[in-house]
Amino acid sequence: MNEANNWVEKSKKHLWLPFTQMKDYEENPLIIAEGEGVYLTDVHGKKYLDGYSSLWLNVHGHRKREIDEAIIEQLQKISHSTLLGATNIPATELAEKLVEITPENLTRVFYSDSGAEAVEIALKLAFQYWRNLGHSSKQKFVTTKNGYHGDTVGAISVGAVDIFHTVYHPLMFDSYKVSFPNAYRNEHSDLEDVKNECLLEIEQLFAEKHEEIAAFIIEGMIQGAGGMNVMPDGYLKGIEQLCKKYNILLIVDEVATGFGRTGKMFSVEHENVQPDLMTIAKGITGGYLPIAATMTSEKVYEAFYGDYTELKTFFHGHSYTGNQLGCAAALANLELYKKEDIINTVQNKADFIAEKLQSLQELEHVGDIRQLGLMVGVELVKDKETKEPFPWGDRVGYYATLKMRDLGMLSRPLGDVVVFMPPLATTFEELEQMITIMKQAIKETTEVLATP
Ligand SMILES: *Cc1c(COP(=O)(O)O)cnc(C)c1O
Repeated sequence: MNEANNWVEKSKKHLWLPFTQMKDYEENPLIIAEGEGVYLTDVHGKKYLDGYSSLWLNVHGHRKREIDEAIIEQLQKISHSTLLGATNIPATELAEKLVEITPENLTRVFYSDSGAEAVEIALKLAFQYWRNLGHSSKQKFVTTKNGYHGDTVGAISVGAVDIFHTVYHPLMFDSYKVSFPNAYRNEHSDLEDVKNECLLEIEQLFAEKHEEIAAFIIEGMIQGAGGMNVMPDGYLKGIEQLCKKYNILLIVDEVATGFGRTGKMFSVEHENVQPDLMTIAKGITGGYLPIAATMTSEKVYEAFYGDYTELKTFFHGHSYTGNQLGCAAALANLELYKKEDIINTVQNKADFIAEKLQSLQELEHVGDIRQLGLMVGVELVKDKETKEPFPWGDRVGYYATLKMRDLGMLSRPLGDVVVFMPPLATTFEELEQMITIMKQAIKETTEVLATP
């Protein structure tokens, strides 16, 4: 047996992969051996374009010299020491930089290792904030239908993607789920009306229940894992205003949308929103190492500050929190945003792909193309006129993505939505190549499925 096949056999024997039916993996195994720029190479030597930024993380491509060097330099000092009751140099410097680049009111950085943890922390902080202030009736959370905030039990309790979450219902705490202003699937023609109805629904809930609501949690400007649903203009701003009016904390989850993904450093900048808490992860280290953070306002921080015996302390932490190697990577990553003017190039690239993606409209089964910055979802439907979906069991998104893999590009679907999330540094030429592959894969896959 050659070495590559040996790895494949071992992977089938011992691994259990996240969000993966292992029966599918056995049929189509994939082991990445190397990466360079926007290309990944598997153990057989086949090259793929990284069309999903290695699950929405990667920013500058793989093996970016500046980040590699920053990690090596940090390795020669120390790899990890704890943040419990102490700190380290890169974590301290990164905190200062994060406060600089996030909305003005956010002044405190609580580190963790993944987006879901950052969300758990935001939820527990919001909950304890009201207790510490003596408003212990405020315990509930409000989220949007189809919202996604990670996979730990707290995070799924404020999540609302049925296929991921239904099985765990008995395990979850209750939260209020409000309608999301979906542009593609609603009976009304005017999105402005839909938005206003959704805001009214929130206001009615707040008016009635604000005494028991701790916080509203929402993704920034676009629902990611819920299907790439872009929020109408003014919706997030409207929520911010309602939260202020009814004394409810606003948590914006920027795990997917942060670090330039939507064409602004953080998506809240599109509407000048200042959340009380903000979660960040994915792009923070350029896709290198597991660092996440929950940013808070000074108002939230102060509610926890006092003598130990007042029992206001936030008793929460993870072993690897504030890891030096990760923070060093994040610092090098942030330097590159300035040096390579990433945010402006993202805006140009977003315009470029918006135009190129138009050519997908001509395909018979492309129902909707949704985009914000370099976050794209292409929804495949059986019937474009009626928007009738393909039968669930056809797994059209899954097969389209497998076909893309054949053709030399990797991504992951969200149900019948094909996701396109290239690294921010992808060149115009590479972007065009990726879209060509995506179009070809969708065409071939849907033709086969649509034929009786
Ligand atoms: C990916 C994601 C998370 C979870 O982050 P992990 O690092 O995978 O735990 C949370 N919220 C949003 C919006 C995400 O896209």
